[in-house]
Amino acid sequence: MSAEAKPPLLSYSRAAFEALVVGFGGKPFHANIVRDSVLTKSLFDYEQMTALPKNVRARLAAEAPVFAGREVTRSSARDETTKLLIEFPRTNDKDATVETVHMPSLYSNPDAAEGDQEKGATLCVSTQVGCPVGCPFCASGQLGLSRNLEAHEILEQYVRGAALGKLGRSVVMGMGEPLLNYKNLSVALGVVHDEMGMGARKITVSTVGFPDRLRKLAPLRPRFQLAISLHSPDQDQRDVLVPAMKGVPIDDILAAGDDWFEKTGREITYEYVLLGRENDTEGHARRLGEKLRGRRCTVNLIPFNPVRESPFRRPDTADVDLFRGALERARVVATVRWSRGVESDAACGQLRIQKLENR
Ligand code: SAH
Ligand code: SF4
Repeated sequence: MSAEAKPPLLSYSRAAFEALVVGFGGKPFHANIVRDSVLTKSLFDYEQMTALPKNVRARLAAEAPVFAGREVTRSSARDETTKLLIEFPRTNDKDATVETVHMPSLYSNPDAAEGDQEKGATLCVSTQVGCPVGCPFCASGQLGLSRNLEAHEILEQYVRGAALGKLGRSVVMGMGEPLLNYKNLSVALGVVHDEMGMGARKITVSTVGFPDRLRKLAPLRPRFQLAISLHSPDQDQRDVLVPAMKGVPIDDILAAGDDWFEKTGREITYEYVLLGRENDTEGHARRLGEKLRGRRCTVNLIPFNPVRESPFRRPDTADVDLFRGALERARVVATVRWSRGVESDAACGQLRIQKLENR
């Protein structure tokens, strides 16, 4: 945040915000009304919070803007998926725009029945501006890390997302590696859970799976669902596909996953981006099956979304079917997630790259 910017409402804890409102001549319950309006009613204009005295509204409007960021673009795909590009204050003159994606529930869960739609949309949120992990198939990895998002910047994505339509669940699968900004993420998720009312089971955090960090996190609240990005059963190949994890044995990651399951009772999802003719052969599927056999988990197969200037290609549909078949024969449950966002702006991180290139 630049020195002259006023701290946004979302950056205050409950107690600190109450003190602010009281300092402006309001009562503690006025602070609750404001938080509730913003966090659960998508009401962002202080003037409309008529239960508050006029002078308190005016002071808040002058001193505590609701958001730190600015919506730069909004793009919609044919299936009603909406991508927000949000620009946060620059630090050290580095761009700080991130993507947040709002998906109606039938999109995010193809198995959902029609009636499930009213349970709400899935929101995909970012935790960092860019990402330091450097996976060569990922748009966020191509630009490296600019900075971590503040807790209130992560929360802002939820609050803006809820304004696009009721949220049923969220996936922390946007830009960035959540475990490298976990402190801020956990503050934001605390508010999402406690004040926005999203159950811990409805929050999925996706990570490349740093074993030591996972072991430390397992007992913490909220007890979100965990997804670990694996991408290969072979150490050499994973070292190339997930550069920042080079040398961290796949077996250590799986063991940390087992510990997580034991401590939390929550089953893990392993994510696997299918890169055409790279990691999508039946041999890969067989070896993956051997590694995961006997573990209570699900594999999410994500066919690669083409990223500009990436050497990878989308897998053939027939190969995807063979891959899943081989996993099933090893008694490993697998689902395929064909992303439908492809025709608009494709995978996470790409909207930001386009924006930076158009400057
Ligand atoms: N950094 C975390 C979370 C963000 S990425 C992680 O890597 O898990 C969320 C998921 O999207 C990961 O499984 C990632 O591998 C996948 N992904 C990234 N770029 C992709 C692309 N171009 N096509 C398909 N999936 C992609
Ligand atoms: Fe970072 Fe995840 Fe992209 Fe890898 S896939 S570069 S960890 S955001």
